[in-house]
Amino acid sequence: MDLLNTLVDKGLRRELPTREEALAVLATSDDELLDVVAAAGKVRRQWFGRRVKLNYLVNLKSGLCPEDCSYCSQRLGSKAGILKYTWLKPEEASKAAAAGVAGGAKRVCLVASGRGPTDRDVDRVTKTIEAIKEENEGVEVCACLGLLSDGQADRLRSAGADAYNHNLNTSEETYGAITTTHTYADRVETVQQAQAAGLSACSGLIAGMGESDKDLVDVVYALRDLDPDSVPVNFLIPFEGTPLAKEWNLTPQRCLRILAMVRFVCPDVEVRLAGGREVHLRSMQPLALHLVNSIFLGDYLTSEGQAGQADLDMIADAGFEVEGAGTTTLPRHRADALAGGCGSTAAEPAGCGTQGSSGCGSHAAGGGCGPCGGHGEPEPVAAGAEDGVPAARTEPNGAARTDLVAVRRRGAGTDLAPNV
Ligand code: SF4
Repeated sequence: MDLLNTLVDKGLRRELPTREEALAVLATSDDELLDVVAAAGKVRRQWFGRRVKLNYLVNLKSGLCPEDCSYCSQRLGSKAGILKYTWLKPEEASKAAAAGVAGGAKRVCLVASGRGPTDRDVDRVTKTIEAIKEENEGVEVCACLGLLSDGQADRLRSAGADAYNHNLNTSEETYGAITTTHTYADRVETVQQAQAAGLSACSGLIAGMGESDKDLVDVVYALRDLDPDSVPVNFLIPFEGTPLAKEWNLTPQRCLRILAMVRFVCPDVEVRLAGGREVHLRSMQPLALHLVNSIFLGDYLTSEGQAGQADLDMIADAGFEVEGAGTTTLPRHRADALAGGCGSTAAEPAGCGTQGSSGCGSHAAGGGCGPCGGHGEPEPVAAGAEDGVPAARTEPNGAARTDLVAVRRRGAGTDLAPNV
């Protein structure tokens, strides 16, 4: 297939595909799916070998958010029966993080609901980062606290944070239909603030909210322009009690096409399979490892993932290996640019990395995190409504597997052991 040969050549050279080529990946048929996965897999192996980085989410503050992000179970007015709690103490967060690290996670992602942190919140998170770093030598810490104010990114960096996550989530054109209490531009600005402070930027998307192929390509090209080190790809978990509860638009095949498209557009970036993988990819999860080089271990912010041991078994059974703490995630040209701003342009393939940090964590779709500041609960966004989310794709829906959506009831914020 000429398209796939072209995309592989470009991916190996870190050359940007055309938008038409990216759209064509999303339009491939099920008969072509394994060829698409094999082609994107060549690009993945060039830059990341067969390594899989594990990341572990710690939800520092759950629910109680004044924002109105339609996809989020923690939003204002959410009727989802999620855990709700305020800030974990540093020692509680550190204990949760240690469990993830013991399970094989290389990065801990500290997430808090809300529009963005106050300076007092940053103080709290600073102490938490210090506690985690003291207890877990070499661990990478990513913070995800919403919109940042002036100086906060610098303070997090000084406290030892390696990365900051803030997702674009969807296209600029669609953004207002998903969230009304902050803007797409707000999100872009926070990612840029994190980069300016020397934090590794992590920014990704949520697929399955009723967006078009063009929206998906738009947001992935916008991310490529922002140049984050990691791109988490979430698949919407349609929580009952949220406006997008009926948006069951994804099939395992579509998820794989989306991941392949992201890999072709962002060939040397840490592409992370994030929330919704168990719900939407189901038994096809191992194929996704040929496309992404990073996943979350265990549970998500507000929903349960598959057992941590099942994650490890899946990686081994598929012939991949968990990335060790001493290995650099990013290809050398990216790691060097991040470490010193020297930005060597000579690209070297997988296995040549030195030390340094890499991409970052996100939270699960349906879990949330980002900016906030709502003014009352908005009307639910109706898929297909003229000023709502664009009409849902009509790709074969299959049976909506609502039975696979389980609210997290263990780990951080509870007395029960975490899933690692
Ligand atoms: S995504 Fe973040 S800011 Fe938006 S509602 Fe959820 S917790 Fe609040």
